[in-house]
Amino acid sequence: MRFGYRGSVLEVELDQRDSRVTDLPEEDAGRFIGGSGLNAWLLYQSLRPSTRATDPDNPLVFGAGPLVGTSFPTSARSTFTALSPLTGVFGDSNGGGLFGVQVKRAGYDHMVIRGASDRPCYLTVAPNGNCKIEDASDLWGEDTLETERILKKKYPKAVVASIGPAGENLVRYASIQFERNAHSFSRAGMGAVMGSKNLKAIVVHGGGGIPVKNPEETGRISEAIKQAAKECAFPKLFTRYGTPMFINLLESLGLVYGENWRRRIEHSDITSLDIAAFHDAAESKSHGCYRCPLRCGKHWRIRQGPHAGEEGFKYEVAFIMTLGMSLGLRDVPSILHIVNKLNRMGIDVNEFAGTLGMATDAYQKGVLSRDATDGFSFDWGNAEAYASIIDWISERRGFGGILAEGTKRAAVEIGGGAEDYALHMKGMHWPAHSAPPFVLAFSLSTRGGDFLKAMPYLLMQSTNKEVCRKLFGASSETMDIYSHEAKGRAVWWHENYKLLLDSLGVCFYLGLSLLPHGRLLPEELAVAYRGVTGIDVDGKTLLKAAESSNQIQRAINACQGMDRKNDAFTRRPEQDSWAQGIDLDLPGMLDEYYAYRGLSRTGLPTTERLRSAGLQDLAVDLGEKGLLDCCLEADEDCFPDSIIKNPKPEDLGRSIKARIQDKVRKRVMAKLSEDPLTYREHFRKQGCKRRKRRKNRNG
Ligand code: SF4
Repeated sequence: MRFGYRGSVLEVELDQRDSRVTDLPEEDAGRFIGGSGLNAWLLYQSLRPSTRATDPDNPLVFGAGPLVGTSFPTSARSTFTALSPLTGVFGDSNGGGLFGVQVKRAGYDHMVIRGASDRPCYLTVAPNGNCKIEDASDLWGEDTLETERILKKKYPKAVVASIGPAGENLVRYASIQFERNAHSFSRAGMGAVMGSKNLKAIVVHGGGGIPVKNPEETGRISEAIKQAAKECAFPKLFTRYGTPMFINLLESLGLVYGENWRRRIEHSDITSLDIAAFHDAAESKSHGCYRCPLRCGKHWRIRQGPHAGEEGFKYEVAFIMTLGMSLGLRDVPSILHIVNKLNRMGIDVNEFAGTLGMATDAYQKGVLSRDATDGFSFDWGNAEAYASIIDWISERRGFGGILAEGTKRAAVEIGGGAEDYALHMKGMHWPAHSAPPFVLAFSLSTRGGDFLKAMPYLLMQSTNKEVCRKLFGASSETMDIYSHEAKGRAVWWHENYKLLLDSLGVCFYLGLSLLPHGRLLPEELAVAYRGVTGIDVDGKTLLKAAESSNQIQRAINACQGMDRKNDAFTRRPEQDSWAQGIDLDLPGMLDEYYAYRGLSRTGLPTTERLRSAGLQDLAVDLGEKGLLDCCLEADEDCFPDSIIKNPKPEDLGRSIKARIQDKVRKRVMAKLSEDPLTYREHFRKQGCKRRKRRKNRNG
């Protein structure tokens, strides 16, 4: 494989302090594309039935897809995959920046790191198999910023990804951080997998460029997508405000809950944390990953108060929802300060907030005493306590050792009813967006509760109806986010699309910004793939490859004992709290998804779908393990050949209504990007209108 792909896998045996370069199997690259998709297959092949997540034989697999490092916009995304120490099942984490680009430049599409070193070490990755395992005893105990600073002194041109004390101490939701903590592989505890291998850091020296088969064709499609990002209304808004802009939209839809998801959030709750509040609290300028026209990152500096002058690189909607809404922190500087500290220690922000949300609830209800928390007062919004406990968690000191286990396990250890307040899917915390299609998506996510796997975000705006109808046959019922009807197909399509982006190495936010405008469709991605690799495929073939990759992820989970009972969520006992009234067993939810995914009613893979996806080898293997079931009988023809819709850009949004909607949307969004206060006011009014409409409808 000479174009797009580098054709090589770097295999590292840490216990033998050895590495070798093997060929990337061409057939597998064709079946799973690369990146996240092929990672899952590499993991599946390496796992033994007895492997547990923090065992040395849990391989840490890395993948950067065929578009990574090319001129295609946002071709920066790469993925670490392993059994997750947090959930015990399939886990992966996707990141941007330059890390994946440099691995590709060094000549590798994937890395598979096995075993454990007998002492702290770091890995240097360089072209032509020149990789070394170096001693890291002096670095052990250092935080991620300091580790990077020390290693950059020695290797000024390299990209350094490292773990902090949390990863070293096997905090189950430890992250891998890089580029001054502007980027990370945060979710699913990939940092703890590195820690279990005594691997403190990976230092990557890039090499030359990535050979591209057809530079003209690649240049043309890259330019067209860049142009679309410049001209379309939504990407502009995204560039101006970054992901925090979504909090206003979500609140206007009535989807956000607070205090460990006990009560619905109001407009007044978010005004101290939204983009207008952020602009008041911090100076900021945009930054972005490799080849990104959106540049959604924010390099900020706090203006005043106890944290004045502190700098960092991230402010995300997820932080507002979890640290802000769930833990009750109501000022931007406190959140920025806590995020910085978590990044330095190498801890996933979202799982931290979920675990502390559960602990705070338990403390408030008297399940936890002050003695049991080692003197910490967990009151909603107690920024000091939340900031201080980070060190205890990182070192697994006292009560911090319990919290280091994550939301679900910590609640079991605390006992006394704390489990009632541990909100998670498959052991990973993410209960936000309280509406049927989103809760379904998070519950189905193969890595556990998460919005970055299958969230059907196109359903959030009714103006996307035409695009949704053409992409996955959405009906009016599908577009109603408050109903349970016809949601499985939307989740299934979004899951495949996201997996396709993660496999190619393209950013989800580019898709999120352009799909409403009928751009960055699978068909356009196929043009880019063909231009880069010379392999002639269409969008439908790419979506089928994503379908195959998802089957592998589900197969890994089936081997760990997961089935329908684990495609579920936990909820609080109170009547009006998060996700009350949502039922995954209603028609249009789980069963509809299983039908589209070709799973059995028990949520297990089926021979029929594995065969139609070209995964006969997997079917044989799972059959021998007794993990295959019969296909769910669907009312309609749900198999990939007939159901994977593959419209071209010119087929989308062509109706007069859609064109008028586009123009109106462009005008409105241009106005909204003028200043954050106008933006805030727009969504306040939208929220009022929506509430009035619902009230009238319900009499
Ligand atoms: S949109 Fe944001 S996260 Fe995605 S590639 Fe661009 S800068 Fe990175």
